Amino acid sequence: MNRRDLLKYGTSALLLSTGIAYASDDQKVKTTKHNSTKKKTKNPRIVVVGGGWAGLALAKDMKYRVPNADVTMVERRDHFVSCPMSNEWLVDLVDLEFLTHSYLDAAKNNNYTYLHAEVIDVDKKYNILKTSIGDVGYDYLVFAVGIEYDYEDWTQGDKVLEEKFKTQYPAAFIPGSEHITLKEKIHNFKGGNFVLTVPSGNYRCLAAPYERACLIADYFDKHNIEGKVILLDANNDIKIKADGFHSAFKELYKDRIEYQSSVEIESIDLDKKIITTGFDDIAFDDASFYPNVKAPYLIEKLGMTRKTPYNRIEADINQYTYKFKGSDNIYACGDVRPMGFSKSGNTAYSEGLNLSKMIADEIAGKIPVWQSPVTTCFSILRTKPEKCISLYTEYAYDKNGGMLFKGNMTDEAWKTNGLGKARVAYGWAESMYRNMFD
Ligand SMILES: Cc1cc2nc3c(=O)[nH]c(=O)nc-3n(C[C@H](O)[C@H](O)[C@H](O)COP(=O)(O)OP(=O)(O)OC[C@H]3O[C@@H](n4cnc5c(N)ncnc54)[C@H](O)[C@@H]3O)c2cc1C
Repeated sequence: MNRRDLLKYGTSALLLSTGIAYASDDQKVKTTKHNSTKKKTKNPRIVVVGGGWAGLALAKDMKYRVPNADVTMVERRDHFVSCPMSNEWLVDLVDLEFLTHSYLDAAKNNNYTYLHAEVIDVDKKYNILKTSIGDVGYDYLVFAVGIEYDYEDWTQGDKVLEEKFKTQYPAAFIPGSEHITLKEKIHNFKGGNFVLTVPSGNYRCLAAPYERACLIADYFDKHNIEGKVILLDANNDIKIKADGFHSAFKELYKDRIEYQSSVEIESIDLDKKIITTGFDDIAFDDASFYPNVKAPYLIEKLGMTRKTPYNRIEADINQYTYKFKGSDNIYACGDVRPMGFSKSGNTAYSEGLNLSKMIADEIAGKIPVWQSPVTTCFSILRTKPEKCISLYTEYAYDKNGGMLFKGNMTDEAWKTNGLGKARVAYGWAESMYRNMFD
């Protein structure tokens, strides 16, 4: 797509009046009447910002459901690197090629446009997306932009300190160079205390910090490193697959993993390498600090966020329609959504498919119906002999809009058939990459 093509799409919008309806999980239909900024067009322009699990699923499925639509995925990265299975990459169980995939291939194979650009603003009145390389017009706009770190509790707004956390002790929960730094830390560790932290709230991938602790401990074991993983959890217990992880800490890694719950970190002195908690001081030799998460700054800048009771910034959307409040054609999808669904790749992927169907229905004049996303989550705990745990859950809303789990947030019995399950984990990832890129 060249600049002229880009600008071609930047046309102004037609104001329409329409009655939109949606149905919740229990099929109770509610209707709202309001002005629509959507343009009635033969070839609706659907733009998704973000080529992660949600954006890739949505772009591919949208083109399948609405073949005459102009579907564009805007992504600032030049290739995809998977967070799922990145814990395995940290300890050499998979190589980088396993995680890395081509956006160009995804777009070519599925007949949509991949625009390699950063989105910097939106003109909501005229339906124009402002990117680092030009303007893109849209009729339907989906933000599938993932999460951003919130270091405020540890830095109190000190941006220099925040940069130090990011570069020297990265969380490695957003794809990019952070993972490379963490891998070097693990591989070059000379022994002592290796600290990992778990944030509170609905952080990205509830299971990943615990899986990471196990795999690092396994790596220390296999490489005779006299090191211990200290896992400082802000929550009062492990939130997902708790039985499996507790058993692993106790039975597989008694001397390797020290798990502490309800930890309130008061301060972290990066120079002296001391963490001060409400209870004591903990010295560390190396660390990866995972802070709280929030909606990306772009969404905040666009005035499309709200604050949680805990003062966290989250996307301000309708939980049934995924539409931002006050907007009729701008949606959120994937980890950026505020609902209590697990922030996982599988959940984001299935939500991308669901939202695609809802937008297609709206284009066809049908009533969009909310469907539950699906969470499937594998955690590999040990190599040789392999141990792995997994869970499956769906969700529902109660009549007051409260979220319910329709599955099991604890694990299956983790001791049984570990070898088979680890293989299933790799197979799951491979099939998801095929779904998104082939
Ligand atoms: C270590 C680790 C292990 C995990 N393990 C699992 C697992 O085993 N199973 C599982 O299901 N999930 C797992 N997850 C979680 C999973 O990675 C996320 O839930 C998933 O990536 C969310 O998808 P998303 O599309 O919402 O966001 P993302 O994948 O973060 O994608 C967002 C995209 O938006 C782009 N973007 C953001 N802002 C802009 C902008 N302004 N302009 C252009 N582009 C922009 C970003 O570059 C990014 O590519 C794991 C995560 C981590 C970190």
